[in-house]
Amino acid sequence: MMHSTDTLIIGAGQAGLSLSHHLTRAGLEHALLERGRTGERWRSERWDSLTLLTPGWLSRLDGSEPHPDPDAFLARTDFVAYLDRYARSFGAPIHEHVTVSSVTRPGRRFHVETSSGPWRARNVVIATGDSAEPRIPAVAASAPPQLAQLHASRYRNPAALPDGGVLVVGAGPSGQQIAAELRRAGRPVALAVGRHARVPRRYRDRDIWHWLDAIGDLERTIDEVPDPAASKRAPSLPLSGANGGEQLDLAVLHRLGVTVTGRLETFHAGHALFADDLHVTIDDAERRLLRLLDRIDEHPDRSQSAHRAHPPDRPPPVRLPAGPAVLDVAAHEISTVIWATGYQREYPWLHLPVLDPAGEIIHRHGITPLPGLYVLGLKFQRRRASHFIGGVGTDAAFLSRHIACAPATGALTARATPAAGALRRGRASRTPR
Ligand SMILES: Cc1cc2nc3c(=O)[nH]c(=O)nc-3n(C[C@H](O)[C@H](O)[C@H](O)COP(=O)(O)OP(=O)(O)OC[C@H]3O[C@@H](n4cnc5c(N)ncnc54)[C@H](O)[C@@H]3O)c2cc1C
Repeated sequence: MMHSTDTLIIGAGQAGLSLSHHLTRAGLEHALLERGRTGERWRSERWDSLTLLTPGWLSRLDGSEPHPDPDAFLARTDFVAYLDRYARSFGAPIHEHVTVSSVTRPGRRFHVETSSGPWRARNVVIATGDSAEPRIPAVAASAPPQLAQLHASRYRNPAALPDGGVLVVGAGPSGQQIAAELRRAGRPVALAVGRHARVPRRYRDRDIWHWLDAIGDLERTIDEVPDPAASKRAPSLPLSGANGGEQLDLAVLHRLGVTVTGRLETFHAGHALFADDLHVTIDDAERRLLRLLDRIDEHPDRSQSAHRAHPPDRPPPVRLPAGPAVLDVAAHEISTVIWATGYQREYPWLHLPVLDPAGEIIHRHGITPLPGLYVLGLKFQRRRASHFIGGVGTDAAFLSRHIACAPATGALTARATPAAGALRRGRASRTPR
C-alpha cells in the first residue's frame, strides 16, 4: 500500500522531532520515519553512563517544558525519556521501526521505499544525524588480530570489554570521557591524542556554555566565519557532564593514571607506534583556548557583572611527559582498541543529485538545490549551535517556514529555487528567517 503525506521526515532524533513540532504548530501535514525508536541513537549508540555535556538550559527543545534544573546535566536515560515526552506532547506522527531504503523523485513527488512499504511526499527532510556512521581510520587494518576493536558508538561500559588494558584513540569528548571511565574502573588505559580542543568546564564562576552564549559564539552563523569548512572540522569541546559537570582534560587524565601518547600512526609487529607530536597538539589546543578566554575577558556587554565579581581564573597549561613512542601491545596486556575517532555521514539510499564529491549533502542553511529536499541537524548547518539539542529548534523553525512558503504543486524549478540561486551566487537566499 502506498502511503502519502506532504512532508516526510527521515529520522526521529531531536532534529526530526523539532521540525515535527514546528510543522504541527503550523498545521502542516507530515510524518516521521524512524528505523528504531524515538531518539534511537541515544538509546543504542551511546555508552551507558553518558551524561549530556550541555546543561539543561542548552538541552531544551523548542516548545518543551524546561528541565527542572537549568544548570544540571541530564543522564542519557533521562534525556531519552524527555524525547519521548516531547514527542507525545504534540502527538508527533512517528512511524517507528521503519527503515528508509531508497529516496527518488520520478515525477513531481518524492518516492520513498521503506521496510514497511512505499511513501509519496512533496517534501523530504533528511534528519538522520551528523554523528551517524562510525569513522575509523585506515590504521585499524594494521592492528594485531588478537586486539578487540570497537568504535566509541559501540562502547557501553568497562565490564562489557574483554579483560585487560585499553587503547583509546582520539581525544575528543567521547575519547576523554571513555578513557576516564575505564581508568576509574581500574583498567590500564592509553589515550592516543591527535588534534583536539581544551576548555575549562567553568570559567569566572560560570559554566563555559554561559560564556560561549554571552560572546555570541552559539548564534554565530556559517556566513560570518572566515572559513566555513574549517569551522565544520573544528574539534568538539571535550567537556563532561559526569559527576555534576567535572573538569576533563589531558592533565586530569594523566593524574588519573592514563598514559597519554601522540597520534597513533600504525601497528607493527605487535607494537603500537605513536607520532612525536603530543606537545605540538597540546600547545595548539592551548593557543586556541587562550584566544577564547581573551574573547571572554574582553567581551564588554552582559557578562560584565560576572567579570567584576569573578576575576580570570585561567587553568594552568597542560604539561605532560612526551609519552611513549612505542607500546608493546602484549607486554602491556592491551586487549581492546576503542576508536573515538568521530563520525561520518553516508546516504546510500539517497538516489538524487545532491551529494558533493565527498558524499556530503549540498545545501544552504538546510535547503538543497533540489526543490522540496531538505536536511536538518548538520554541524554548523546555519549556526554554530545547529547540531546541539538546544540549537536545532531555530533551524527547524526556519525550514518549517520555508516548507510553508514553497508552492504546493512541487513544481519549483531549480532556477526558481532560492537555495539553488544562493548556491550559485554564494550568498544568502531570500527565504524566510
Ligand atoms: C556521544 C555524543 C554525545 C553528545 N552529547 C551532546 C550533548 O550533551 N549536548 C548536545 O547538544 N549535543 C550532543 N551531541 C550532539 C547531538 O546532539 C547528537 O548527535 C544528536 O543525537 C543529534 O540529533 P539528530 O536528531 O540530529 O540525529 P540523531 O540523534 O542521530 O537521529 C537520527 C535518527 O535517524 C534515524 N535514521 C537514520 N537512518 C535512517 C533510515 N535510513 N531510515 C529511518 N531512520 C533512520 C536514526 O535511527 C536516528 O534515530 C552528542 C553527540 C554524540 C555523538
